[in-house]
Order: sequence, then structure tokens, then C-alpha cells
Amino acid sequence: MTFAARMARLGTESAFEVLARARALERAGRQIVHLEIGEPDFDTPANIRDAAKKALDNGYTHYGPSAGLPETRKAVAEYISKTRGVTVLPEETLIVPGGKPIIFFTILALIDAGDEVIYPNPGFPIYESVINFAGGVPVPIPLREESGFGFDLTLFERRVSPRTRLIIINSPQNPTGGVLDLGQLERIAALAAARGIPVLADEIYRQFLYEGEFASILSLPGMRERTILLDGFSKSYAMTGWRLGYGVMPVPLAEQVTRLMVNSASCTASFVQLAGLAALQGDQTPVARMVAEFKRRRDLLVDGLNRLPGVRCARPRGAFYVFPSITGTGRPSAEVAERLLAEAGVAALSGTAFGAHGEGYLRFSYASSLERIREGLDRLGRFLATRP
Ligand code: PLP
Repeated sequence: MTFAARMARLGTESAFEVLARARALERAGRQIVHLEIGEPDFDTPANIRDAAKKALDNGYTHYGPSAGLPETRKAVAEYISKTRGVTVLPEETLIVPGGKPIIFFTILALIDAGDEVIYPNPGFPIYESVINFAGGVPVPIPLREESGFGFDLTLFERRVSPRTRLIIINSPQNPTGGVLDLGQLERIAALAAARGIPVLADEIYRQFLYEGEFASILSLPGMRERTILLDGFSKSYAMTGWRLGYGVMPVPLAEQVTRLMVNSASCTASFVQLAGLAALQGDQTPVARMVAEFKRRRDLLVDGLNRLPGVRCARPRGAFYVFPSITGTGRPSAEVAERLLAEAGVAALSGTAFGAHGEGYLRFSYASSLERIREGLDRLGRFLATRP
């Protein structure tokens, strides 16, 4: 079988590969500390599970509209209006199976061969992968530890060109945990608005903010008509396996993305959408409890990492990842990640899984209990103390 040339341009997400390798080691009898995958280890709250069961019993088992059920679109529009401080209409809202399809569909709908797309590096690997897949030209903006992993704005302003067709931002950020503050967003918005460039704002970690106020580019002047906002249920409501996310975007783009849905998934599972509706409208204390626990884990992990030789770890303000520098070990990131798993039984990701600018770093997800994090730190300490 010969494959289409475009397949050679499609990347991957290493977290899933490392998880598979870790699981294989477990099947062979090893005990692994999982600090690789970005999914909350909490159960989906009971009110959400109950809403899904009720929806199944009430016959929500059929095809629904490709853009999403009207009641769920309305609930998302109200939720975004409330949390982002701008009025969003249901027709600007699309319900899709997870946050990822918004990335895939937006890039397919906007990017032709040779079009430039600005995106963060290190960043969620799917951005670069899909830009390449669509034939676009990835234009990375390095995120640097010295500046709290914010956008290098001087470089950003230099890299925006007449061929820039899309700017991707992500805050709070995967893999660094960095957060774009209002001042940074204002500078990005000013340039995007002046040049008429759409911005894909990936806000999937919005709820995981431990200090400061969340700011959305959607609410800045001139951005209402050019922002594609990505958010979803996977992280905030511990619903990774349900596959439910959404985008908010100008109606003409929403129509194009709906056609991509018709041509691919047809629609998002109807009973799952009713579970999402219950999540948005129901009790939010499980989210607050989960976020408080994540903050305790972050502090344990950051403090523990900073006690290890050759490791330096900034205290990230958001998401549930830390991105420590390991240049002090004198080893490349990929080798350290590989050996950590094989020799110490700690699954983590090489910073380079998130782009070339991730060299010198590892990513640990703290979506794991305090006890497992402590065990991971002990193993890491022994590994660093005894490695040749
Ligand atoms: N955006 C970012 C930055 C992510 O880290 C992830 C998941 O890891 C997603 C989007 C996709 O989320 P989902 O599982 O809802 O597709």
C-alpha cells in the first residue's frame, strides 16, 4: 500500500506513545510512576455521569445536528459569555468530539499550502503537526523560561508577515504551565487586529490557574470577529474519555467547520452533549476541589524537583504540568526521559516532544496522587544520584 504524501507530514503526540510503553513495562511486571499523560486522575463528577445515563434512557442515542445540539450550543454560548465577559451567540458555538478537532478543523479551513502559522514552541505538538499536514509553514515562537514561558513578543512582532494566516496561542500552557498575562495578550491582539489575522486561542486549561486572573484574548478590542476560542470538558470536568469539546468562532468560519464535521464525525454523541450541558450548569465545587488538589501537587513536585542535583524548576501558574530544566545533568532530554522510564520506572516526556525549543527540559504531568508524585521524586533522586 502506498500512502498519500501528506501522511509523511503528520506528526504525533508522544504522550500516548510513552503511555503505551509504560503500560507494556507494567504488563511485564514493572511498577511505573505515571507522570506523562495529561489527564486528570479524578472521576467525572456524579451529576455529569447521571445526566448521561438519563440522556441514554431518554433516547439521546441518535444522530444530532453536526454543529451540536441547540441546547448544548446555547449553554456553551451562555457559559462563554459569562466567563469571558463578551456576548457570544449559539450560532458562533460548535460542539465537537474533544478540543483537538477544533485545532484540526480550524487549520484545515484556514490554511492553504505556503500560508504561515505562528504557534508556541515548546507547545502542544498537534499545532505543528496539523500545520504541516495542511501544507502550511510553521513559524514557531520560542517560549523562554526566563520570561515565565510567555511569548517572546519582540520576536513575535518580527515574525508576523504578509503571509501569516493564523496565530495560535495557548494559555495556561501545555507543556510549560506558563500563562499569558493581559499585557501580552493586548500586544498580540493589537497586531492581529491591525493585520486582520485570526487567532486560535486554546483555553482548555482555563480553570487550572493557581495565581492571578485569567485573561482571554476574545474579550480584547477587535478580537471578537477574529478569535477562534477552543475549550472543552476533558480537563476541567475530568472527561477525557467522553470526547467533548467546543469552539467559538465567527459564523462564516463556523459554517466551514460544520461542513468538516459533516464530512468526518457527522456529529458529537448526543447523550455526551447532555452530560456536558449538566457539567456547565451544575455544581462547580468538584472542579474547585480538583484544582485545589492540583495546586498542592504542583507545589510538592516543584519543591521536590528543585532539591535535585542538576534540576531547576520554575513554579508554573497554570495547567497541570511542570517543565524543569535538566541541562545541569549534561544529558539530552530525550535520553534522560528514555532512561528514566527504562531504569527508574518514571514515565515523563522529553521537552523535545513539544518542539525543538523544548531541548534541555522534561515535562512532568502532576495529574497523579501526592503519594505517587513523592514516589516519582524519590526514584528520580536515586536515578540522578547513581547514573553513570
Ligand atoms: N489543547 C491542549 C493545549 C491540550 O493539552 C490538549 C490535550 O492534551 C487539547 C487541546 C485536547 O484536548 P481534548 O482531549 O479535549 O481533545
